[in-house]
Amino acid sequence: MFPAQFFESAGNGKVRCLLCPHECLIAEGKTGICKARKNQNGKLRTLVYNKVAALHSDPIEKKPLYHFYPGKMILSIGEAGCNFNCPFCQNHHISQASPEDYNNFSYINPDLLAEQASKIPGNIGVAYTYNEPVIFYEFMSDCAVAVKNSGLKNVVVSNGFINPEPLKRLLPFIDAFNIDLKAFSENFYQKQAGGKLQPVLETLKTIVKSGKHLEVTNLVIPGLNDDSEEFKSMVKWIKTELGSDVPLHLSRYFPAYHADYPPTPLSILENLFLLASEYLNFVYIGNIGETDYSATICPSCKKTIIKRNRYDIWITSLQEKINCGYCGRKIVAENQ
Ligand code: SF4
Repeated sequence: MFPAQFFESAGNGKVRCLLCPHECLIAEGKTGICKARKNQNGKLRTLVYNKVAALHSDPIEKKPLYHFYPGKMILSIGEAGCNFNCPFCQNHHISQASPEDYNNFSYINPDLLAEQASKIPGNIGVAYTYNEPVIFYEFMSDCAVAVKNSGLKNVVVSNGFINPEPLKRLLPFIDAFNIDLKAFSENFYQKQAGGKLQPVLETLKTIVKSGKHLEVTNLVIPGLNDDSEEFKSMVKWIKTELGSDVPLHLSRYFPAYHADYPPTPLSILENLFLLASEYLNFVYIGNIGETDYSATICPSCKKTIIKRNRYDIWITSLQEKINCGYCGRKIVAENQ
């Protein structure tokens, strides 16, 4: 077990973990909600340093990131455990597993991961994804340093449930984020995820203020978070607090884990797409196969810049890999 950062002694041999807003009070020999951090003799240890449950080279569009190195590949790594417990999680086999019980780990150190990433032709860097990377914070941070030192990019795909100080320390090493905004309701976050909305909103604002590239994903689940008034409040908040150029990915829900209600009807996704497009410049629908809803259209001249069919992409016209080739408007993140 490796030493964990961000904790304090809480008396009687207990420790309080300060990595995420749960701030678990952990007794000797016990783990926190994420099951990835354990109190050992009054010190907090991470159970997931160096461990790998999934390691694949993925299209960057799969994260999803549509405005960051479009068409490129990224080596993607995940572990086991999560600080949320969503009943509809698509990756529940690793996210809801206890790292102490998970018996399919392989092992890698940060330098080796960076070396592996730099040897894959056309690979832009490493994405921390599949399960919640905040819960393997120490390993992610060390990998991010090694990857950055190799001249590659770091991407974090997260639920955004992290305390301000660890986020602040991680930011200098990360180039792009995709953050899940699961709903615009504290009730949803408490009942469906076992978390809270407000800290996620703070994370989103901090990332935008830092100037790092941000895209947002909203998994639309019928009857749970598809209320049009609540959704409108969410997209208005994104426009006001994050800016109208932050891409929003509406993702179609399919039954998974404990959730067995039917998949999201396309009509619901289309209605929310139209509503979001009144406020935001780049809105997409994912998880629905080939569709025009995944194309990037220049908000200024209305020409199609990037067409997509799942993970196949066609860039029709981008100047300097960043701006619309027809009118020059900025489309893609500047740090290309
Ligand atoms: S990271 Fe894990 S142990 Fe720490 S506060 Fe969050 S859920 Fe609890």
